[in-house]
Amino acid sequence: MTAIAVLGSTNMDLVAYVPKAPRLGETVTGRAFRTVPGGKGANQAVAAARAGGEVVMIGAVGADEFGVRLRSALTAARVDTAGLRTVEGASGTAHITVDDEGGNSIIVIPGANAAVTGLEAGDEARIAAAGSLLLQLELPLSAVLAGARAARAHGVRTVLTPAPAQPLPAELLAATDLLVPNEHEAAALTGLTDPLQAAEALLAEVPEVVITLGAAGALYAARGAEPLTVPAPRVRAMDTTAAGDTFVGALAVALGEGRPMPAALHWASAAAALSVQRPGAQDSMPTRAETDAFAA
Ligand code: ADP
Repeated sequence: MTAIAVLGSTNMDLVAYVPKAPRLGETVTGRAFRTVPGGKGANQAVAAARAGGEVVMIGAVGADEFGVRLRSALTAARVDTAGLRTVEGASGTAHITVDDEGGNSIIVIPGANAAVTGLEAGDEARIAAAGSLLLQLELPLSAVLAGARAARAHGVRTVLTPAPAQPLPAELLAATDLLVPNEHEAAALTGLTDPLQAAEALLAEVPEVVITLGAAGALYAARGAEPLTVPAPRVRAMDTTAAGDTFVGALAVALGEGRPMPAALHWASAAAALSVQRPGAQDSMPTRAETDAFAA
């Protein structure tokens, strides 16, 4: 099985379903409320485990009820939580609004994730034992950098999702093998709104880039090769929360199995398209069998 380490956030998602998201100063009546385990790190971990990977999660939850639930959600998905610390204070939370079009807006409060400032005992060995390390930007940058450095030192492929968008230190980019921004993050990183131009600019920093384009699919670019666009399957989206995380988790598993990039992108697109047809973050992620059937 493909071994994957994830160094990242765990958050409880507090999701409000509304016909239309409120503007500043406006109050609207919503349709429903749900609390669901999320966080970009945990989401990618669950996505990779559902996709058939053997996954270890490194991060932290708070000493509260959310923390207990966040850990058990990972365990239920067969993610190894030996690297998931319980720290004092509140777990991370994400306050999410999902409208009737399936669009979302999100406020993240880091909570326990802010306590992850670097690697702890055993983490380097967890990373070294993996084929790839999945990183995002919901932990302090010092931890992300430490993880990337450890992966580099052990020849482990680093896959960085640069979200939430922020300027990236040169050292982090230098230790990134595959960068997977969505089109907004790619534009924020480069100042270029055209995905092809943004991808070309990013190739000056990293050897491989996948820019996800929502319903328009994904764009892959690598140094010295023709860019490749992989269309997304046409589906009716009802909740796009964690579409990108589902995509990255599945992509990492497929690449870890040695599948060529085009096939891996096709399979990851199938997994993400399945996820947007269901509500929630981790709950919406397909199993390997479901993705195989849909991708066929
Ligand atoms: P993020 O969730 O990070 O904002 P995107 O919106 O680009 O990222 O979505 C990630 C991937 O999920 C896309 O590349 C695509 O494969 C899939 N996806 C997203 N929205 C849709 C949709 N409406 N229909 C089909 N696939 C989708």
